[in-house]
Amino acid sequence: MALLEAFAAPLDEGNPAAAHAALLNERYTNWRTQDVLDDVINREFDGNIALVSSFGANSVVLLHVAASVAPNVPVIFIDTGKIFGSTLRYRDEIVARLGLTDVRAARPDPTALATHDTDSGLWLREPDKCCAIRKVAPLARALSGFDAWISGRKRYQAGMRAELPLAEAEGERIKINPLAGWSREDLDAYRKLHELPEHPLVADGFRSIGCMPCTTRVAEGEDERDGRWRGRDKTECGIHFGLAAFETDGSGI
Ligand code: SF4
Repeated sequence: MALLEAFAAPLDEGNPAAAHAALLNERYTNWRTQDVLDDVINREFDGNIALVSSFGANSVVLLHVAASVAPNVPVIFIDTGKIFGSTLRYRDEIVARLGLTDVRAARPDPTALATHDTDSGLWLREPDKCCAIRKVAPLARALSGFDAWISGRKRYQAGMRAELPLAEAEGERIKINPLAGWSREDLDAYRKLHELPEHPLVADGFRSIGCMPCTTRVAEGEDERDGRWRGRDKTECGIHFGLAAFETDGSGI
């Protein structure tokens, strides 16, 4: 049993999840992405793992690989209430195309919105607080009860993602980053090989797509995430900073 093995792993520093992640990183060295996903979804965390997707610019690749091994894997989509209409339509198209059967929307708590974002302009005044209410708290609630989750982050996206491991501990939960080592060219090649539709905003110059007010086009030569929260120091929404420490009872802030 993997968790028992994890307790015996040499990198165990009193944190079973960290030891478990270290064991998985060792096990999955040189594994194909499809095999990693098959193992984590159908065996290692069977029934206790969810995939989190923004249905953004590159999301279709991870979703396609996951659907090929487990179309019933729970897929959590954070519907912040600020998402592009084209993303919602793209989500529906991809879900139908891949035959995903368990796509769940994680939405902000109405009471938190009524208390902290009455004019819907919190994103402009306090984007960190807006992300906390509209993204981090909903995801923390949606993941409660899961032992692990799958993210689509890649190392080439730079910034805080440059050292991304395939498996990492997040409190007592494990986070799997199956595409960590993929390049942008790998993603494009996979999408073309399988004739998967591209998010419609990519052709319009958007290369990392999140909420409408906080996403801009990216110029040639810019990092693809330069279009997110443009003009601010902010580079991440916070869902990768540690959900375990987050409240799951409603407010999340
Ligand atoms: S990305 Fe912008 S609109 Fe979306 S939750 Fe964060 S601050 Fe709010």
